[in-house]
Amino acid sequence: MAKRDYYEVLGLKKSASKDDIKKAYRKLARKYHPDVNPGDKKAEERFKEISEAYEVLSDPEKRKKYDLYGQQPFQSGFDPFSSYQKRGRGEGFDSQGFNFEDTFGRGFEGFGDIFGDIFGKRKKSYAQEPAKGTDIQYSMEISFEDAIKGLSTDITIQRNASCDECNGSGTTPGSRSQVCPACNGTGQKKAGRGPLSFSQACPQCKGSGSWNPNPCKKCFGSGTTLKKERIGVKIPSGVDTGSKVRIAGKGETGKHGGPAGDLYIIVKVRPHPFFERKGDNIYCVIPLTVTEATLGSQITAPTIDGNVTMKIPEGTQSGQVFRLANKGSPKLKESGRGDQFVEVKIMVPKNLDERSKQLLRDVERLNYYNPRSNLRV
Ligand SMILES: [Zn+2]
Ligand SMILES: [Zn+2]
Repeated sequence: MAKRDYYEVLGLKKSASKDDIKKAYRKLARKYHPDVNPGDKKAEERFKEISEAYEVLSDPEKRKKYDLYGQQPFQSGFDPFSSYQKRGRGEGFDSQGFNFEDTFGRGFEGFGDIFGDIFGKRKKSYAQEPAKGTDIQYSMEISFEDAIKGLSTDITIQRNASCDECNGSGTTPGSRSQVCPACNGTGQKKAGRGPLSFSQACPQCKGSGSWNPNPCKKCFGSGTTLKKERIGVKIPSGVDTGSKVRIAGKGETGKHGGPAGDLYIIVKVRPHPFFERKGDNIYCVIPLTVTEATLGSQITAPTIDGNVTMKIPEGTQSGQVFRLANKGSPKLKESGRGDQFVEVKIMVPKNLDERSKQLLRDVERLNYYNPRSNLRV
């Protein structure tokens, strides 16, 4: 069957400019594309014809040859539609993984863009999908006691929240966002050439696929403004340095109607002058006099709940550890509390008067023992 004249196929005059050709092709390809006309054989044929005409006329070199010799040099080897069919419907023209320049050869400028336009229509919803806002991290230093007992307080954070002026639309009142003309709403642009070509976010719309002709004056079209906000936070009892407390919905505002991100409070606990924390347990060192340790005694010991009386048995050694049950930190993931461990340290008196020294010598003589007997010295 004789082929129609390429200019005729695109409805153009011989004098058509490069732009005219592109415009005509774009218009017709959209109309006859198989995705728009599922199962329509005639539309398929027409689309094939249009694509072939465009392939030749859009290339100055090939157009020159065509003007001189007609269709003969182009009869074989060009069938964009067959490669489309081989890949099967629905996946063939997905802009990921299908490379127009590979299929049609190098130097075929503009084709990919135009297909991007057509298929971009399907991708548009993807670019505009609601997305959860970014989470925010906030470092908070709290006291040792507050970490164990919990704390309710107010903090001031800065976050991107919906702009009051435009209610988050980013446009001035009465105006609307439009499809980005650079990528036709796909949010994607091709970069590189031939086998190395790839899709990247459209530089004009930064991948959003939409174009805002009248951006809001307050938020410059972003739909969000940086706001200081005072919010109440509740730090549960039992947190420790590195604990994260999540405050839902207090992160950055979401995109395209998506939910806001979360606020994470990263806890740092200030050191305590004499308590130390390891997991759910609390440790401290309590000094004893020689007499308290030797004869036994009742001493007052500090705990996170206040002072308690602690019994020191007769003959307590330095470094001995006593446990005060349930005086540790509340457990974060289960019920109950840790313990407090008290290490005693015996303080030896200094600068004794002569009478005291004599008394000590008497004590040792009356109760002699060798503390180094097991060292065999
Ligand atoms: Zn605004
Ligand atoms: Zn764009």
